[in-house]
Amino acid sequence: MDELSKALFWAGLVCFLLAGPAGLLLPGLGGLFSTLFFFLLLMAFVRAFSRRLAAREAENAAYLRFLEGRKRAFRAWQDRFRQRKNYRFFRCPGCKAMLRVPRGKGKIHIQCKCGYVLYRKT
Ligand SMILES: [Zn+2]
Repeated sequence: MDELSKALFWAGLVCFLLAGPAGLLLPGLGGLFSTLFFFLLLMAFVRAFSRRLAAREAENAAYLRFLEGRKRAFRAWQDRFRQRKNYRFFRCPGCKAMLRVPRGKGKIHIQCKCGYVLYRKT
């Protein structure tokens, strides 16, 4: 099993565990989780026993790239969260870059590297 198959397998197990309690809350929800459980486990095993290795490797690589992107976004968010007392963060509407400015300077003009100027309260 590669990383993607393992993830499908564990996601399937989580759905299996959620199916019971979810079914008590809302009758349709339990069935949905049961279906998801079955589908995810089926996918995990089909992938694990597939002989088209190149295709499975490509899927796994795409999954790992996606995961790496999520991890990077999460670490960036953690960084901003740690600095929140001293800095404010704005996203540049022009180039989507994250801009960091010191807090408590009142309303200031912030110029991004791309040339875009924002007028924001700090
Ligand atoms: Zn910009």
